[in-house]
Amino acid sequence: MRKQQRIGIMGGTFDPIHYGHLVTAEEALVQFNLDSVVFMPTGRPVRKTHRVVTPAEDRYLMTVIATASNPDFSVSRMEIDRPGPTYTVDTMLQLRETLGANAELYFITGADAVWEILTWKDTERLRDTCTFIAATRPGYDLGKFREEGLAEGLELEFMEVPALAISSTDIRARVMQRRPIRYLLPEAVASYIAKNRLYKDGDDGAA
Ligand code: ATP
Ligand code: MG
Repeated sequence: MRKQQRIGIMGGTFDPIHYGHLVTAEEALVQFNLDSVVFMPTGRPVRKTHRVVTPAEDRYLMTVIATASNPDFSVSRMEIDRPGPTYTVDTMLQLRETLGANAELYFITGADAVWEILTWKDTERLRDTCTFIAATRPGYDLGKFREEGLAEGLELEFMEVPALAISSTDIRARVMQRRPIRYLLPEAVASYIAKNRLYKDGDDGAA
């Protein structure tokens, strides 16, 4: 019989991708003994309608550049190629269908997003498709997340990771204010941002 594949899904806007995302994915890979992590840039995020999100193709390419050197990481176009707003439940159901019974799916997310997940479309159907891995800062109080998540019947695991203070919002603001972004994200991604003049003007960079 074929071995069950354990696949992590790291969903995000990745506008831009940074070391917080990469460290989290790597940590999940090791702590949960995953075979691979698939980065899944969102198409049109339903919850980020109040600012202009960078074109999907740029976000996709930055994600490819950032993950290229890691043989256990890959990037999927599934969400950016699907028309209409992005709902995670559609993605997970589609993955379930494609991968069949041979895969166990782990959705990797920041712990704060666990609250959001509870408000997502079709949480009920979503919770049957995968286990959630929530990344937290070391020493973070997990009590309320655990309780709420469990109350909703989510399969929920927690994982401590460093580097949680990095955010795409801060990186966009830094670019706009001509402050440094070096060491917050891979150099090649910083070069892509400079070359394509991303985040230089527009809104205030807030998420
Ligand atoms: P923004 O500031 O625009 O919201 P972000 O930095 O939160 O961007 P997203 O693309 O929104 O990045 O996040 C994708 C996923 O990565 C989410 O599950 C989020 O909780 C998680 N995440 C974001 N930043 C970090 C970080 N520094 N460490 C670990 N996980 C993170
Ligand atoms: Mg975010």
